[in-house]
Amino acid sequence: MPQFYETVFIGGGISCLSAASGFRGDAILFERADRVGGLCKSDQLAGFTFDRTGHLLHLRDPRVRRLVKRLLGDNIDELARNSWIYSHGVYTRYPFQSHFFGLPPEVVSECLLGMFAAHKKTNRYQPKNFAQWVMTRFGRGVARHFMFPYNQKLWTVSPRTLTTEWLGRFVPKPDLKEVIRGAVSDWHDDAGYNAKFFYPVKGGIETLVKAMTRPVKRIVCQVGVAKIDLKTRQLTLTTGDRVGFGRLVSCVALPALIKMIASKPDRISKMATKLRWSSVYNLNIGFKDRGCDRHWVYVPENRWLPYRFGYASNFSKTMAPRGAGSLYTETAYSRTQRLDKETARRRIIRDLIAIGVLNSKKDILVEKVHDLKYAYAIYDRNRKRSVSGLLDYLETHEIYSIGRYGRWEYSAMEDAIIQGIDLAKYKL
Ligand SMILES: Cc1cc2nc3c(=O)[nH]c(=O)nc-3n(C[C@H](O)[C@H](O)[C@H](O)COP(=O)(O)OP(=O)(O)OC[C@H]3O[C@@H](n4cnc5c(N)ncnc54)[C@H](O)[C@@H]3O)c2cc1C
Repeated sequence: MPQFYETVFIGGGISCLSAASGFRGDAILFERADRVGGLCKSDQLAGFTFDRTGHLLHLRDPRVRRLVKRLLGDNIDELARNSWIYSHGVYTRYPFQSHFFGLPPEVVSECLLGMFAAHKKTNRYQPKNFAQWVMTRFGRGVARHFMFPYNQKLWTVSPRTLTTEWLGRFVPKPDLKEVIRGAVSDWHDDAGYNAKFFYPVKGGIETLVKAMTRPVKRIVCQVGVAKIDLKTRQLTLTTGDRVGFGRLVSCVALPALIKMIASKPDRISKMATKLRWSSVYNLNIGFKDRGCDRHWVYVPENRWLPYRFGYASNFSKTMAPRGAGSLYTETAYSRTQRLDKETARRRIIRDLIAIGVLNSKKDILVEKVHDLKYAYAIYDRNRKRSVSGLLDYLETHEIYSIGRYGRWEYSAMEDAIIQGIDLAKYKL
C-alpha cells in the first residue's frame, strides 16, 4: 500500500509554503527543484546575490506586513521607489502618464493633447479591451509612446487582445493637474501600488522563503508530482513511487496541473488549452559599478529587447561586492515568437551598452540567464471563463490551486502569501 497523507502540497512556491506553514495536520510537500522558493529564489554567484529578476515586497495588507516583519526581524529595509522610463534617448520619471518632462517637445505636446481629449470623453463609452481603455483614459500620445509598445512587449500580444480585468492597482491614473505639473517640471509623486517597498537587507528575497519554510515539517525536494489519479486518490511521483492523498494544494501552473490529471473530461482539457502566457528571460549581470541610484527602468521602445531592467544592488548594498553593481533584465517571449536564450543574451547586452547602462562588455564581471517559462498569464477573452471552470472542477475533487500561476493571474508575492494563509485557515 502506498503511504497516505491527508494533505499533499505540490510545489514549494511562496503560496504553498504560506499554506503549509500555517497547517498543523498530516502533510507532505513535494518540490521538483533542488530547493523550495519557485520564482522567489536567490542565487549566490561570485560574491553577488541575484534574485530571479527583481522581487520587491509591496505590502498593503497589515497581516502580511506583520508576518514579513516578524519573519525577517532586523533584516528588512523600507525603500522609496526611484523608477524611470527610458525612451526617445532620455530617462523620464515613472509613471509615464504623469511625467512627460524631459521628452522631446513634440512628444510632450502629443501626449498632452491626447490626454486633454481623453479627459473630455472619458465617460462616453465602456472600453471593451485594454487598448480602448488606454485611449479613453490617456489618449493617443501616451498610448503610442508608452502604453501600447510597453504592454505589447511584456504580454507579447496586442493591447486589443487584453481585457481590462488585470489593471486594478497596476496602472496609476493621474488627474489633469498632475499631468500638467509633470509636463512642465521635474515634479514627482508616489503614485501607484509600488511607491514604497520592502526588501531584505541581506540574502535577497529567498531569505523570506527560508524563514517561511522553518515551520514546515515534511518537505521533499528533487521529487515532483508526475500524475494525479482522482479515482484511486493516488499521485505518481517523478521517482515512480506512489502516494495516497486526501486533498491536494498546488502552486503548479494551472495548465501543467491539469495536464497531470489522468482521465479528465474533454471539456476540462479543452479549457486548459485556452490558457495563454508569456515567458521571460531574466538576465542577471554583475558589473563594475557606475554610481547609478535608480531602482528600475521601463523600456517601452521596440528597438530595445528588454521591457525592463533594474539595479538589484540599489535595493541593498549587500547584493554586490564592494566596487561592483548588479543588474537584472527582463525580456518577454511567447511560444509563437520563439527567441532563443543565447540570441536574447547577446542582444540584451548589446542594448544595455547602446543605452549606456554598461560601458562595454569588459564591465561585466558575471552573468546568468534564467528562463521563466510561466511569467505572465495572459488576460484575453477566454481567460476568465476557463480559469473559473478549471478551479471549480479542481475544488470539487478537493484540489486547491493557489498562487500566481495556480490561479492563473497577475499578482504579487503578497497575494500568494494571503492565499496560503486563507486556505490554511478556512479550508484545510
Ligand atoms: C518577471 C516577474 C517579476 C516579478 N516581480 C515581483 C515583485 O517585484 N514583487 C512581487 O511581490 N512579486 C513579483 N512577481 C510575482 C512572484 O514571482 C509570484 O507572485 C510568486 O513567486 C508566486 O509564487 P507561487 O507560489 O505562485 O509559485 P511559483 O514561484 O511559480 O512556484 C511554483 C513551484 O512549483 C514547483 N513545481 C512545478 N511543477 C511541479 C511538480 N510537478 N511537482 C512538484 N513541484 C513542482 C516549481 O519548481 C516551483 O518551485 C514577479 C513575477 C515575475 C514573472
